[in-house]
Amino acid sequence: MRTRCGENRTNNDAPDEREAMPRIVVDEDRCKACELCVSFCPKGLIQLSKRMNSRGFHPASLRDKRKCSGCAQCAMMCPDIAITVYR
Ligand code: SF4
Ligand code: SF4
Repeated sequence: MRTRCGENRTNNDAPDEREAMPRIVVDEDRCKACELCVSFCPKGLIQLSKRMNSRGFHPASLRDKRKCSGCAQCAMMCPDIAITVYR
């Protein structure tokens, strides 16, 4: 089931057994590299990627999937609804 945190997305159904741990997925083409999610992740797990998206920005990416708590603070702060949280 997909629920919403404000305008941002949270999905409580992990896609498969391997990915049962909390994690985020960034829709890279929506990201404008504002770094709000980088600032607000309480664990400091998000960084800007070296890749460039179709709009010329370096999109946010999760550094260490094992440490994500699924708290969704990053998704709630993202002004572009680019982050989906799975938990
Ligand atoms: S869900 Fe929470 S712990 Fe995971 S990346 Fe986002 S802010 Fe960090
Ligand atoms: S808050 Fe959203 S738009 Fe800003 S860097 Fe993070 S994912 Fe990209």
